[in-house]
Amino acid sequence: MSNLKEKLVKHLKKSGIDIVKFGNAERFRDRQIYKLMPDAKTVICIAARQLRGARRGVEEGTTFHHFSTLAIETVDETVLPFALLRGCAMLEDEGFDALPQRRNQLIMNESDSTNPEVDYAKIYRGKSAETILDFESCAVDCGLGELGLSGSVLTEEFGPCQRFAFIITNAEIEPDPQVKPHLCDKCGECIKGCPGHAISPDGKLNRWQCAAYYIGANRTKNPFMPAYAFEDEPNKDAIISGEANLTPDQAKRVIDEIHFYPPIRHAYCSSICGKACDTECYIHLERKGVLKNKFKSPFRKRPVWKLPIDGE
Ligand code: SF4
Ligand code: SF4
Repeated sequence: MSNLKEKLVKHLKKSGIDIVKFGNAERFRDRQIYKLMPDAKTVICIAARQLRGARRGVEEGTTFHHFSTLAIETVDETVLPFALLRGCAMLEDEGFDALPQRRNQLIMNESDSTNPEVDYAKIYRGKSAETILDFESCAVDCGLGELGLSGSVLTEEFGPCQRFAFIITNAEIEPDPQVKPHLCDKCGECIKGCPGHAISPDGKLNRWQCAAYYIGANRTKNPFMPAYAFEDEPNKDAIISGEANLTPDQAKRVIDEIHFYPPIRHAYCSSICGKACDTECYIHLERKGVLKNKFKSPFRKRPVWKLPIDGE
């Protein structure tokens, strides 16, 4: 390993990062890298784990805010930005240009889509002047892991349970190999695990459907939903059982009515599903014994909880 690569990995890991991967810029499918930095040589992917313990509350039905605050908000708003700044500073100290790239949850190129992790009404859509990398394809091209059927990037360390960001630099750094897909066996557990059937059998995510069920539109998985919820919707029963096919307009009405649990800071929504798609994938990969990050006991310790459909 080159001296600069070794120094960067050590520095980034000290800054809270679990996995660091390097890809040579020319192998990236997302050519926007060159729009951001025409002389880019290397893209560095930094990934921070989502604690298994932050999923425990939703798994057991005991506490719900830890997943959104600690597995999403803190990782995306604190851990990754801090490490990006530290990594870029080290590259600048060496005389290289370094461009930090983190997710901006509130800006979208698309004019009609949404991001389930934030309030749909706060998103600025159709901002095509903003250059937004395809995070998943860049992570795969860096060698972080493979793309699962669910659309999540799967790593050998944590399965689908990490968040990531990038540094684009004109430093030429020895690349890591890309991962040959071997984790996703198309078992479909991610699809079955979604309380709102938001992922189609071929792995396509309906983002509006996801946005409604991410924050708890299915009563059987939401202990905070009152009996009167969605009274004005003609397909109320289908909504609260997770069987409705929501149009974007109906998804917005459903989302607007879900004030059963407080939102968290920044613009993030409180996830009531706890990204069940990823949780089921993690459990599947853990059972198969293919993850390197081992625990003394399995994550799933009790039967899956489910509340009666008729509410309180
Ligand atoms: S749950 Fe199964 S099908 Fe879905 S991403 Fe994980 S391994 Fe692939
Ligand atoms: S489990 Fe949650 S995050 Fe995953 S697709 Fe379904 S609603 Fe969206």
